[in-house]
Amino acid sequence: MSTCARAGRRWQLGCDKLRPRVSIARCFQGYSEGAGVSAEQVAIAAVGEALVNAKRVAVLTGAGMSAASGLPTYRGTGGLYNAIEIEQGMPIEEILHMYTLARNPALTWKYIAQIEQACRGATLNRGHSILAKWEHHFEVHIITQNVDGFHTAAGSSRVTELHGNLARLFCLDCERAFTISDFDMNKLPPRCMHCDGLVRPGVVLFGEMLPAAALANYERELAAGFDVMLAIGTTAGFPYIHDPMVAAGRGSTITVEINPDLTPLSTQVTHHLQCDALDALEKLDLVLAG
Ligand SMILES: [Zn+2]
Repeated sequence: MSTCARAGRRWQLGCDKLRPRVSIARCFQGYSEGAGVSAEQVAIAAVGEALVNAKRVAVLTGAGMSAASGLPTYRGTGGLYNAIEIEQGMPIEEILHMYTLARNPALTWKYIAQIEQACRGATLNRGHSILAKWEHHFEVHIITQNVDGFHTAAGSSRVTELHGNLARLFCLDCERAFTISDFDMNKLPPRCMHCDGLVRPGVVLFGEMLPAAALANYERELAAGFDVMLAIGTTAGFPYIHDPMVAAGRGSTITVEINPDLTPLSTQVTHHLQCDALDALEKLDLVLAG
């Protein structure tokens, strides 16, 4: 839910290639002997080997990461907003735009509340837990486009939320912070109980820059370099996902896309695992546990 004005930025990446500490054969443990080895198994083994040897790993996550939690995407199969125009002739991108929040906050909030309602009751899935557990093996830096807070809830300690967090709200006038449970979503837009100012969601709306602190943290970690970068369940349409992956792949970083669909990244990464996030993470976890 954002626009990034940093397209074209030069991302600097670099990391010494590490010598493998396990053979690729080890990564096939668990597969039945004599059975034919599929291209997916070869890719899982190669990515698993890269992870076994890694010290620093970046995990870039999008909507596909939370699909197993039952969260709807905004568009696509089962999406909340498959109709192009949903209200007053406005597409969802316009309703969730910073200008609409300023001109007609009740309309923007009506749909923010719908998204919040759809997310309520959903919880983190085993994929989030696997990524949190991987901190025992190597440094895991999670950079997420998701606003559900599930990575932190799962126990991951290095989480950068590029698009904010749906549960966090703040007053546009006095800047006091709130949580969504502080307000009755039947009375929209929510007003600050201290100064009666407009309270806005803590997510990045269309037309807005990414949060400066989150972006600075992301850039700092990219500059330090990663041994492996995984892009999980993101269409990679935004330059701040696509460009660092491509730049890292030109160096010594192993880049991996986990996505059942083809994206602009699919032909530019070291490995494309064409499967669901949870399926891939469970298989890679088996290799790491080996
Ligand atoms: Zn206030």
